Amino acid sequence: MSFQLVISPKYFFQVLIKKDEYRHILEERYHFYQTLCCVKKCLYLTFPQKDEKKEYTPSTFINDFNRLFIFKEKTSADYENLIYSKSELLRYVSKLDLEKDKTELDQVSFNPELLKRDIEIDKTRLENPFSETSHTGYIYNSLSENAKSKLSEEKQKQYSASQLEEYAKCPFQYFAKRILQLEIIEEPTEELESFELGSLVHSILYEFYKTISEEQIVIADCNDEVFKQLEKIIFTIAEKKIEKLRLNSSFIFYEKEKILGISGNRKNSMLYKFLEEESKSSEGYLPEYFELEFGQFNKSQKDETQEMLVGDVKVRGKIDRVDINKTSNHFKVLDYKLGGKKPTVKDLLNGISLQLPLYLYASKKLIEAELNSNYDPAAAIIYSLKLNNNDFGKKSVHTLNARKKLSEDDLIKSNEELIKICNEVIPAYVNKIVEGKFNLSQLEDRENKVCRFCDFKSICRIQDVT
Ligand code: SF4
Repeated sequence: MSFQLVISPKYFFQVLIKKDEYRHILEERYHFYQTLCCVKKCLYLTFPQKDEKKEYTPSTFINDFNRLFIFKEKTSADYENLIYSKSELLRYVSKLDLEKDKTELDQVSFNPELLKRDIEIDKTRLENPFSETSHTGYIYNSLSENAKSKLSEEKQKQYSASQLEEYAKCPFQYFAKRILQLEIIEEPTEELESFELGSLVHSILYEFYKTISEEQIVIADCNDEVFKQLEKIIFTIAEKKIEKLRLNSSFIFYEKEKILGISGNRKNSMLYKFLEEESKSSEGYLPEYFELEFGQFNKSQKDETQEMLVGDVKVRGKIDRVDINKTSNHFKVLDYKLGGKKPTVKDLLNGISLQLPLYLYASKKLIEAELNSNYDPAAAIIYSLKLNNNDFGKKSVHTLNARKKLSEDDLIKSNEELIKICNEVIPAYVNKIVEGKFNLSQLEDRENKVCRFCDFKSICRIQDVT
């Protein structure tokens, strides 16, 4: 709250002449006041009356001024009908009648037709935010021919599971990020980003399995002597890789400890726990493929046989690991995770979680092409590598009631269902992208699932519609 004084130039100069004894005070500020008076026609002096905790008293300068000059006190009532900001102007204009108040609208340089359209658009957005209009994300009909043709090129693109999941969760977010390619400016950090840590751990595990398969060492059901040999192999690989990265900050020190062992105690490390998990019985499955790529990663590669299609959509990805049972012709897909949660049954059934279903589909195709035989998807596994978590190890992801005892046949059926869902939803998502359908997220729990991590919250205006 402010208290304001207004002195007209007339009074100012009158005072200056009449009260000569104060000339020295005024002369100091004369030039300043004169400038202000010329520009603004009057001088405003303000001071706060109070803040949240205490009341203020006017400064001695204000008090002296008060005694010396003729002034007029202004209160908030003097400003009631004035407009100070664009939003106030918009509020004022929105109350006018577009037909009857044309003169007033002209005075504030508003085009009534444009204004009417803007009001209609906002009304649609607020009252029916998920209706199919160009202002609620269904942009195709309002695009130029050139933009339509650009959008149609999206059909030829190659999609990763995470891109498709992005579209599934929020088409508008996909539009901002992947079509408009808006970028977020992020502060540089010295910390080892989670994806860097992830790729470090992935590369250690990849090299470990590559080494032991070349040396024909089997870890499942191994004895203590072999276990010790494997321990030496995996820690040597990890130490070399970490050393090469030259990681120094304190945060990275902690990450290093997690990988190699807290205070040098290997038994309390991610890698040791991994070896323990791997040395359990494998029930006839052997790790066969690591970092298995599908789709084309190199754009210059023109080899059509490398393409992986879901319907008519090209997809690509890299599967951490595929274990195979060559006796039963079954396979398991494994995805190493250092963070995050297991996908929910609902998200799997609704085609929102697509990574593991797509990996099951792609693995089946690749294995069958290579081994020339039919293979069934026995499991999709999240392999948690979180050291601090009691859940370290393999967790099967499926859509069945987990409380029941599940047979391998049950799991195969569930996985086949997931493959079917991914074959239905992926082409549907890409068709929607080409048709310019980029509505805001319609997920039931969108705030927790996607909005709270979203960089585009300030531009999508989801807050207006919720
Ligand atoms: S904040 Fe939510 S609705 Fe808005 S773009 Fe992001 S995910 Fe979509």
